[in-house]
Amino acid sequence: MFYMDILFFFVFGVLLGSFLNAWIWRTRSGKSIWRGRSMCPKCGNTLTWKENIPLVSFFWLRGRCLTCQKKISFQYPFVEIVVGCLFAFSAWFHAGYILLTFRDAFVLFFLTFVFVYDVTYQEIWDRMTVYPALFLLVPTAILGWHSGMSITVGVVVGAGFFLLQYLISKGKWIGGGDIRLGMLMGVILGWPLILVALFFAYVGGALFVLPFLVLKKQTMASRVPFGAYLTLATALTMFYGMDIVQWYIGLIS
Ligand SMILES: [Zn+2]
Repeated sequence: MFYMDILFFFVFGVLLGSFLNAWIWRTRSGKSIWRGRSMCPKCGNTLTWKENIPLVSFFWLRGRCLTCQKKISFQYPFVEIVVGCLFAFSAWFHAGYILLTFRDAFVLFFLTFVFVYDVTYQEIWDRMTVYPALFLLVPTAILGWHSGMSITVGVVVGAGFFLLQYLISKGKWIGGGDIRLGMLMGVILGWPLILVALFFAYVGGALFVLPFLVLKKQTMASRVPFGAYLTLATALTMFYGMDIVQWYIGLIS
């Protein structure tokens, strides 16, 4: 039964990854996600059922649009596979605890949204941070995933940390989107895990940037926006943050 869960969440993730691709494209082109059918981004033709099967279509039609024959970005199947694997991981990690599996799948969906959009367009929208944070607050409060105190301190620290940098640098170091991403991180992780995630993001960012600085290729390194590190650090912390902290405390005591 357990393996059926993992398979179910993989397929569910691939479907939502396909939805995420559409949402990313519609966010970029200013269209509503609720209206109109999917179409080819190159020629604008409405997709037939053959072209609209997540993952399968891309490989079946060898990554081309049936109407204009132009190549479809590899980002489409990539996002579908990634979200599928992340959902399957959540099912594996929680081993039958369906509510927690759904919660983390929900969180991973929006972290992927931020990651892909921030890396591609250097923007973070409220629909990727504020709305999922508000949505997540309800079950978190009812089911007691974090205490009210833990969320409050988590949000104040997460958002406040970036707000402070925003004010000091007058918006040069970070954008307003990072402040709202900090708020989402606070709701997901609570206190004190928010600190662990911020720590991972900075260490990860430094480790990634260092080789580029040594090779004097700063532009390559600065092309990865900070939101990318924050989302990766949040995903790592939500699953393994406590283990890593306990391992560290064991080392120093
Ligand atoms: Zn086309």
